[in-house]
Amino acid sequence: MSDPNIDNMELRCPRLGSLIPFRYCLISGEGDLPCMKIMDCWWEIFDVDAYLKENLPAEAYNKLVTAQPRSKVATIVEIAEEAKKNK
Ligand code: SF4
Repeated sequence: MSDPNIDNMELRCPRLGSLIPFRYCLISGEGDLPCMKIMDCWWEIFDVDAYLKENLPAEAYNKLVTAQPRSKVATIVEIAEEAKKNK
């Protein structure tokens, strides 16, 4: 069940440049999915992953998680490891 206290929390959206409530992030993705950046934007504020896992249908949660872009750090580490192997 969603929590109105969480749904009404606000932050400055890096895409829109204005304050927006979490409830907007929940519906602003493709189809029925939340915005693809929802984990990146909210992880420092509360346990957004746990919240989504509890409140989204399992299929929607899995789609969102598998569609997350890889972090730049993960990509850099992988490239460095590949370069070490190829020496
Ligand atoms: S999750 Fe999407 S809509 Fe929400 S603040 Fe981040 S970029 Fe903006």
